[in-house]
Amino acid sequence: MTNQEIEAFITQFPIYQYTFINTEDIEFSDRVRVICKQECPRYGSSWSCPPAVGSVERCKAHCLEYPQALFFSSVTDIADVTDIDEAVKTKRDHENMTKVIEDYVRNQSMLVYTLSSDSCCICDKCTYPKNPCLHPEILHPCIESHGIIVTNLAEKQQMDYYLGEHLILWFSLIFFKTPLD
Ligand code: SF4
Repeated sequence: MTNQEIEAFITQFPIYQYTFINTEDIEFSDRVRVICKQECPRYGSSWSCPPAVGSVERCKAHCLEYPQALFFSSVTDIADVTDIDEAVKTKRDHENMTKVIEDYVRNQSMLVYTLSSDSCCICDKCTYPKNPCLHPEILHPCIESHGIIVTNLAEKQQMDYYLGEHLILWFSLIFFKTPLD
């Protein structure tokens, strides 16, 4: 399938900005893990985050199996962008949209691998680490968990990553390839 076909499909969704990226142009960094570990309350509490996702080296190798990715954002109103619990609650619409786009690309005989903003919020309480993930088929690991700094990637792609205190941007990264790539 072509990028134009994907573009034609995603016009039906409230996507704020999007671009296609060559995966080899994405910067992966081990340093992100230090931030995850020291500053993120979700570290070590979700199958979508470190350390459950594996090393950055392994995550990077997995992403590089896919030559291209669709990177897109959507916007949600929020009372206070620094309230993480409230922010995560607004993520569901973005996740649903990501899933529909991911399924569309997969159904065109493509192989896909999808990352999304923040940790997974499908279940009220994640089963990590005692039991296996309840929905591995729809789980989207966190973009940063793979060593990718979203703000840097957005800036490099000339996309917005901050719209003020009352708007939150959610991002997704759908890697895709043909079975022959
Ligand atoms: S689907 Fe449920 S169990 Fe799996 S990572 Fe998400 S919250 Fe955790």
